[in-house]
Amino acid sequence: MSSESDGGRPDSKDLKITITPELIQSLMSEKGGWSKAALEVLGVDWPPQSGWKSKIRGKQVLASDLVKLGLTLLQIDGMQLANGARGPRQAKTTEIGYKNPNGQTVICKADRPGNDHMQLTYELECGTCGNRYGSNGSDNFQRRCPNCQGGRPGLPI
Ligand SMILES: [Zn+2]
Repeated sequence: MSSESDGGRPDSKDLKITITPELIQSLMSEKGGWSKAALEVLGVDWPPQSGWKSKIRGKQVLASDLVKLGLTLLQIDGMQLANGARGPRQAKTTEIGYKNPNGQTVICKADRPGNDHMQLTYELECGTCGNRYGSNGSDNFQRRCPNCQGGRPGLPI
């Protein structure tokens, strides 16, 4: 048995996903209820007692179980990011809040192109001295602070 779509990101399916109102909502059926299977994944006893939604909020479920219920990893990712939750998966290097090994954190996307081909400028903040400067998105993962780590001069922001 081979399943192409499952091969790429084995780690993602072991992710623990925090239950949020959005997650509960996304598991709702077209009829406006929740299937027994969905509630089982959420850890709710059948039949559900009133107030079950607030009781499970903040608990964690496996991403792979949510996928079985029909959610895509993309949907799950989106919900977690919207809530500011951080799983063990490494953040993308252009994601707000991404911190590279040099302690440089992505603060926001600056509204101007970078000086590399097709690159956008991101505003980074140095965790050591607090310096803020612009960086090409493609450099975020290896950027060093121009102020205290001898990195190249920052782009204008
Ligand atoms: Zn610095």
